[in-house]
Amino acid sequence: MKIHEYQAKDILRRYGTPLLKGRVAYSVEEAVNVARDIGGSVWVVKAQIHAGGRGKGGGVKLAKSTEEVRAHAEKILGMQLVTHQTGPEGKKVNQLLIEEGCLIDHEYYLACVLDRDSSRLCMMGSFDGGMDIEEVAHKHPGRILKEWFDASTGLQGFQARRLALRMGVPAKLVNKAGALIQSVARCFTEQDASLLEINPLVTTKDGNVIALDAKMTFDDNAMYRHTDIEAMRDLSEEVPEETEAKKYDLSYIKLDGNIGCMVNGAGLAMSTMDIIKLHGGQPANFLDVGGGASKERVTAAFKLILSDPSVKGVLINIFGGIMKCDVIAEGVIAAAKEIQLNVPVVARLEGTNVEKGRKLLDESKLRIQSATDLTDAAKKIVAAVK
Ligand code: ADP
Ligand code: MG
Repeated sequence: MKIHEYQAKDILRRYGTPLLKGRVAYSVEEAVNVARDIGGSVWVVKAQIHAGGRGKGGGVKLAKSTEEVRAHAEKILGMQLVTHQTGPEGKKVNQLLIEEGCLIDHEYYLACVLDRDSSRLCMMGSFDGGMDIEEVAHKHPGRILKEWFDASTGLQGFQARRLALRMGVPAKLVNKAGALIQSVARCFTEQDASLLEINPLVTTKDGNVIALDAKMTFDDNAMYRHTDIEAMRDLSEEVPEETEAKKYDLSYIKLDGNIGCMVNGAGLAMSTMDIIKLHGGQPANFLDVGGGASKERVTAAFKLILSDPSVKGVLINIFGGIMKCDVIAEGVIAAAKEIQLNVPVVARLEGTNVEKGRKLLDESKLRIQSATDLTDAAKKIVAAVK
């Protein structure tokens, strides 16, 4: 799950991470008022969307008067912001973060992630922060420095200071940077984050170290113990089909292809996508209906697949272990009754109650081709959508 920059900063504030004064605004008038409340003479107007690269896309603007705050807010609020992370259609800006401006001396990079290779947490830092970190990681991976730590012991003070030194933070600011880095590590661990990125982490002309940007994502499996974070969810930023899928406990991820897949079990779903690709097709989604799905859940899943206009055919691939094939068949038939089924469907059913399931589909008079095995199923659906 992702949250906005202003929300991530609200969380970081609890850990004592040094941040600039700022507040969210939902209208132009509110933006101007926030700027007045903050005071000072320089502000930054920042688009709040679930994507990075806003600076380069025109979503972060410096203002030297409240009139300029108003002008930028008018321009950015409601705009369709396109960045290298949003795709060409961009994302609509519904809220702004108004923050005081600061005089930056240098922009560093900092991020905490789970390193699956070493099964430990990893704090990464670099001298080359700011808006081109992807290029640095690609061309000069050696410039990204790392410290590994364990969740139970945390990132030690000496590790945080050592990282700051290696990142090139001036010696007199290493203690301040170290404290900031440790606060980020604590926040990451306690909040069950999967990513906490500060890009840029800046040193300022007046000798401070500040987190200027914050991006935070969470482990969905831990959300049950963070109801306050769950409440920060911004549904307008999420794929509507994926939100609908969550209601029915379906694991659904939208992809770019045109073959809808209804499968039980994550492993079988992965291999189904692989075999579709092997035979020259492109899956439109990943969908795991789960082990013991009910007829209602299967109906919801099938409707969800068909609601995607790019779907030109559906492959149903079910291995009935706990799941019963006749329940799948009933769900598919129920869904087809509610909505027009005008794309070809191939079904490969195997396992518990398979005969009953096949019989139900045959008698339903729906246009469903049956397949004998996985390869046969993949070939048939690829041919059908061509
Ligand atoms: P994004 O990563 O989406 O481009 P950032 O929050 O990193 O957005 O902002 C982009 C750039 O804008 C930063 O690298 C920094 O140079 C500048 N910037 C952001 N916030 C401030 C601020 N409060 N004061 C001065 N400059 C800022
Ligand atoms: Mg940034």
